[in-house]
Amino acid sequence: RKGTAIITGASSGLGLATAKALSETGKWHVIMACRDFLKASRAAKAAGMDKDSFTIVHLDLASLDSVRQFVKNVRQLETPIDVVVCNAAVYQPTAKAPSYTADGFEMSVGVNHLGHFLLARELLADLQASDYPSKRLIIVGSITGNTNTLAGNVPPKANLGDLRGLAGGLNGVGGSVMIDGGEFDGAKAYKDSKVCNMLTMQEFHRRYHEETGVTFASLYPGCIATTGLFREHIPLFRLLFPPFQKYITKGYVSEEEAGKRLAQVVSDPSLTKSGVYWSWNKNSASFENQLSEEASDADKAKKLWDLSEKLVGLA
Ligand code: NDP
Repeated sequence: RKGTAIITGASSGLGLATAKALSETGKWHVIMACRDFLKASRAAKAAGMDKDSFTIVHLDLASLDSVRQFVKNVRQLETPIDVVVCNAAVYQPTAKAPSYTADGFEMSVGVNHLGHFLLARELLADLQASDYPSKRLIIVGSITGNTNTLAGNVPPKANLGDLRGLAGGLNGVGGSVMIDGGEFDGAKAYKDSKVCNMLTMQEFHRRYHEETGVTFASLYPGCIATTGLFREHIPLFRLLFPPFQKYITKGYVSEEEAGKRLAQVVSDPSLTKSGVYWSWNKNSASFENQLSEEASDADKAKKLWDLSEKLVGLA
């Protein structure tokens, strides 16, 4: 049978390119988990995806109720869930003030980490129930959260500190909207959320890989300088960033190439190892990359897990 992969944020950028790459193989049905149904259906059509190769199911990661409803709706489709890709993200580098999810969490961490945390926790049971030979849960990471790289050292750097802001609810009510308890900074909130994504993947691996056989993985697909992720950046940045990445840092990848990379992590028989953060070299060959000290800190991962459980109502 065909495999079924859920991809969050499949209405643009990396998520859409991955959905397209998987649907073109003829071996996958993609559940596009998107907040804007019309945008997703137009995007799938414009990408030339065969209409039988995907289903769009509404998901707004900025609402825990929506996440729970999504899980119910997907179960009603009565198709096994073989792979889940947590890909959607918001990035608000120029925001002067925080914005909030329906549950009152700062938006970047609320969507990129907490929404996905609840989704992944809920869907683990479905992955476990599937009879697919290689079941995978993939959480898209980023180089920007990794302070052991050049890109990760551009200020403001990711830093979760002692997680006091998260412990305080991350809602600014009597505490901070930043995980480390500091002042709001949209660029840093995004990087922090990506560290959470990479820590969560590893904590899933430690807790559940042996028991469930599910492969847990993260990746940095390369710098896809053309995606909507940079839509909230200033116009000059949006003009100069793609050529800068192409010719100066040489980290640039096209959306199509990045989509193929993520599709490999979904389905390639050689990428079944669990607990790995994948990257690609100049020749587009995958390799197991090293995470920064913070992004591989097992104590922090556990603390993050416990606090996140409380915030999303699992504990
Ligand atoms: P895009 O902005 O193109 O895509 C982000 C997707 O997330 C969109 O489909 C968007 O939906 C969706 N999304 C945002 N908020 C929500 C929400 N509340 N509920 C549901 N979906 C939501 O960016 P990219 O494709 O670049 O980003 C995809 C992933 O790749 C992210 O995890 C990002 O961190 C990662 N990444 C990107 C890099 C890059 O260079 N671009 C580099 C490294 C990692 P909508 O279409 O409705 O806006």
